Amino acid sequence: MLPKLIMIIPCYNEQDVLPITSKLFLDKLTQLTDEKKISEESRIMFVNDGSRDNTWDIIKNLAETDSRFMGISQSRNRGHQNAVLAGLMEAKDNCDITISIDCDGQDDINAMDKMVEEYLGGCEVVYGVRSKRDTDTFFKRFTAESFYKLMNAMGAEVVFNHADYRLISNRVLRELAEYKEVNIFLRGMVPLVGFKSTSVPYERHERLAGKSHYPLSKMLALALDGITSLSIKPIKLIMSFGMVIAVISFIGIIWAIVSALLGLTVAGWASTVCIICFVSGIQLISTGVIGEYIGKIYLEVKARPRYIISERTGEDYNDKS
Ligand code: UDP
Ligand code: MG
Repeated sequence: MLPKLIMIIPCYNEQDVLPITSKLFLDKLTQLTDEKKISEESRIMFVNDGSRDNTWDIIKNLAETDSRFMGISQSRNRGHQNAVLAGLMEAKDNCDITISIDCDGQDDINAMDKMVEEYLGGCEVVYGVRSKRDTDTFFKRFTAESFYKLMNAMGAEVVFNHADYRLISNRVLRELAEYKEVNIFLRGMVPLVGFKSTSVPYERHERLAGKSHYPLSKMLALALDGITSLSIKPIKLIMSFGMVIAVISFIGIIWAIVSALLGLTVAGWASTVCIICFVSGIQLISTGVIGEYIGKIYLEVKARPRYIISERTGEDYNDKS
């Protein structure tokens, strides 16, 4: 039997680009269906992430014009990761495979052919990996690549240059659903689930319309979230750092004693102040990192819902009600 595919497409204030890309997604679905790679039941699911513009109206219209379009709406803006997760969880019992992709046309839709082929060949997860970033500005490219390097250096293993364009089978999704954490970083979580996986390279294009919602500040926040939700390496680094400082202080103390014995000491006000500043600075940083983890524990313990779907649209939903 042919696998049923659901494309998961997060949308936040995308009224400019959605009318263009929704057609491209539908063409791709039609082509894959015609080629008998996926079942006729396959769908395109938009996840409205609390948009403030007409995005949800556009999605509802699309769902009325073609039964292969469907949509869910989050009760408010929760960010890209939560939007993708909401879509994946909504789709998991209803399909054989999902492919998550941004709605701005930056990710090459044609890479889906290869992804589906890899699935048919036995892979349960297929990562879309950017082969080049020529169309991104130097700054975006630099910050994005530093992001992956920082993540890996800090013990949060992620697939280099893979964003959230990936195919996941429903088997993996059911396992992913067991990861109950609230700080979600899908790029790091999916590899943790395991199963047979592979990568498919694709070229990253420019946005077809609208503008990016991922400025440097959000990217840094995502990196910090990724690192602190996936690894405790920063805490371990504090330990090593503390030990290095201890050794240096020990040498300093010997030096001070020797100088005193040799009668070389002068009023050491400056050095005292320097040491106090230095040590208190390190202590503050260390406390900050620990605080970051305690903050995470606090959020996890509360176990709040990770997404709330306020509305649904699409023929599949009408049948049920
Ligand atoms: N997005 C979202 N919620 C947000 C921000 C972004 O669902 O709070 C969606 C957005 O509509 C797009 C995808 O996430 O489909 C990627 O966002 P964007 O293109 O702005 O980021 P970039 O490609 O510049 O990193
Ligand atoms: Mg984009």
